[in-house]
Amino acid sequence: AFDTTTATAWITAAEAVVKANEARLTGLDAAIGDGDHGANMARGLTAALANIAEKEPATPGDVLVAAGRGIVAKTGGASGPLYGTAFRRAGKALGDTTDADAAQVGEALEAALTAIKELGGAAEGDKTMVDALTPAVAAFQAVAGDGGTVAAAAQAGADAAEAGLAATVPLQARKGRASYLGPRSVGHEDPGAASLALILRALAEVTA
Ligand code: ADP
Ligand code: MG
Ligand code: MG
Repeated sequence: AFDTTTATAWITAAEAVVKANEARLTGLDAAIGDGDHGANMARGLTAALANIAEKEPATPGDVLVAAGRGIVAKTGGASGPLYGTAFRRAGKALGDTTDADAAQVGEALEAALTAIKELGGAAEGDKTMVDALTPAVAAFQAVAGDGGTVAAAAQAGADAAEAGLAATVPLQARKGRASYLGPRSVGHEDPGAASLALILRALAEVTA
């Protein structure tokens, strides 16, 4: 269900949707940060795809590790190391399976969330990508735990990520550049939560 081809298709679709939304992500970051999130994510995912093409990974785990290494090598900002580490840790969590089931993909997403929280120190409610990924992991794992397919779990995960993104609007940022704005960070979507929701929607689309 989640094999090397699917994993590669996910990163390909993620790159395309981030590029299609680059101006929107940049606009969100211009409101509460420094206006580079769209460019950072586009550069990072292009580097992820280039590294996948170069390494020719043979397992879905190695696809995600290659993507993460590409992102870390080429992306600045707070989001580069966070996303890069997240993809690497998700890939490592998949081990050497050639076709992960929904429970395994759920564990990989949980490993990504743990990595982001360890590296960035953000908790849920701090108005970061954690606010999109936390409910997404829970929703994904709930469907997987009921015996659902990767497609069904990914759909639930993407829906939850989008709800988590919407829930960042009234929050005041406590991590990252947006936290420098204090109460003026209220009233805007968090850019990293927005890119996270796009990437999980891409997973739902390639697995559907
Ligand atoms: P920078 O803020 O360095 O310019 P980006 O604009 O690419 O980097 O990314 C900003 C996004 O990164 C934020 O919207 C937020 O979601 C996420 N982010 C920033 N700091 C943290 C952190 N400590 N933990 C989790 N996510 C964070
Ligand atoms: Mg920025
Ligand atoms: Mg920046």
